[in-house]
This record gives sequence, structure tokens and C-alpha cells, in this order.
Amino acid sequence: MVSRGDFHCHSTASDGVKSPAEVVKLAYEQGVRILALTDHDSTDGIEEARRAVPDGMILIPGVEFGTDIPGAEVHMLGLYLEPDTPGLQEILKKLRDGRLGRGEGIVRKLQEMGLEISWEQVQRIAGDASVGRPHIATALVENKQVGTVKEAFDKYIARNGPAYVEREKMTPVEAVETIVSMGGIPCIAHPLDLEDLDAKLAELKAAGMVAMEVYYKDYAPDEVERLRRLAEKHGLLALGGSDYHGLHGPDEPFPGGQHTPVPVEPIQALLKLGAEKVH
Ligand SMILES: [Zn+2]
Ligand SMILES: [Zn+2]
Repeated sequence: MVSRGDFHCHSTASDGVKSPAEVVKLAYEQGVRILALTDHDSTDGIEEARRAVPDGMILIPGVEFGTDIPGAEVHMLGLYLEPDTPGLQEILKKLRDGRLGRGEGIVRKLQEMGLEISWEQVQRIAGDASVGRPHIATALVENKQVGTVKEAFDKYIARNGPAYVEREKMTPVEAVETIVSMGGIPCIAHPLDLEDLDAKLAELKAAGMVAMEVYYKDYAPDEVERLRRLAEKHGLLALGGSDYHGLHGPDEPFPGGQHTPVPVEPIQALLKLGAEKVH
């Protein structure tokens, strides 16, 4: 079997259904010999995955950063990012907290401060409305943690109050710069999600982006060809992966790019870059 590469996979460390060790095993069975585990905003699966790697298989530690641009989300893979990279875990925790949503973050902070409140209670008070701070304040009044809604704001949840949470956001350019500064290799994920891709790639390349997904899961041959040309135009390494989650039953492509395998040249180029990073 041709030795395959897969540079985008998920495990139970984020929203995948298989454990890191099971993802490694499945990928190996599919002929994958170079695998990047790239959970959303988390490197928590890397250690387990690494222990499960059989002889003859390379595991690239990675993470998929969720980033924001006005009106859309952009996903940026950071390859060759070791979990113990200084500063990395702090950034990932902030991104995960932001993902929970501001309301949940505030409730958690209140709980950490020892106040009696639960997210379920706040949701019940909010009903069909999206949770806002008044609902949280009402819950605190219900639980006799404060006398009035105003007191809840004044003491805890007003802007700059001790339980106030600002949703943490990161732009794709910031993610690229962060990954580069930490010695990783930034690779934009599923780029066909983006409008105005050509201009965005130029901007991200200028920020230090190294690679883009071209051979992605189920991209059709004409889409792959269009992306391959764009990668060439912008001097980006054409990588790809299955974005395997295990969520979609038998139709979901297994790891290893069954439909759109990554050619050997970009895999070798990536391994060379990775070796330079490590030494
Ligand atoms: Zn993604
Ligand atoms: Zn993904």
C-alpha cells in the first residue's frame, strides 16, 4: 500500500468520537504513516496518541485554532506544536473559554468565586432568549447570593467586574503569527469555506503562513486543481487531510485521504521543514 499522510484529524480531545489511540490505530490500518492529530483548540490528545504510535509511523503534534473574521470563522492548523510549548496552553484555554460563550464563562467564574449558580438555572430563566447578564443576575437573586439585580451587576458582572468575561477572539493573521512565533507550521484548513480566497491567502502568506489544505477530505478533482494552483501562486505547501471526526457514519472518509491523497512531494517537504524546526 502507498504510504499515506493525513495532516488533519480529530479525537475525543475535542469533538471527535474516537480516542487519540483509536484514531492512530485507524489511520495506521488505512496505510497512514505520517499523521497529524489536530484537535480544536486542544493538544490534550497528543500524549496518548504518541504512546499509541506503532513503529514506522510518524505523529506530528498539532492543533486546529478556531479564529474569527467579521461574519465567518476560519480554522488554522498549527503543525509541529508541542503541547509544552511555552504560552501555548494559556492561548488554547482562552480560545476554549470563548467557545463556551460569554454567559457560560461568567457563570463558571461566579462558581469559581464560590457563588451558588448553575448554567441550567440561567438557561431556564432565559427561556427562549439568548442568555444575557440580566438572566445571570436574576439567578443570583433567586439563590439569595445578592439582594437585587443591580447589586449583582455592581458586585460581580458589570464590565470590569470580577466575573465579567469578554469573548476571546483571535484573527487568522494572529493565529499564523502565534504559530510561527512558537516554532510551528501554520496551514489554513478547508480553505473553500472562505470568500475572496486569493486575497486572504496573500494576506496570510505575508503574515508567515506556510501551507494550505488542498487535498481535503471530499474536495472534487476540479476544486483540488484550483486550490493546487492557488497554493503554487502564493508559494504555499499543498497539504491536506481527512478532518476525520467519526461523526458521520459509513460515508465519512477514513483518515488517509481515501479520495484525495496528499502527493509524496509536499509530504517530504513538510517533514524536511519539521526536522529543521526540531533541530
Ligand atoms: Zn475545521
Ligand atoms: Zn478539523
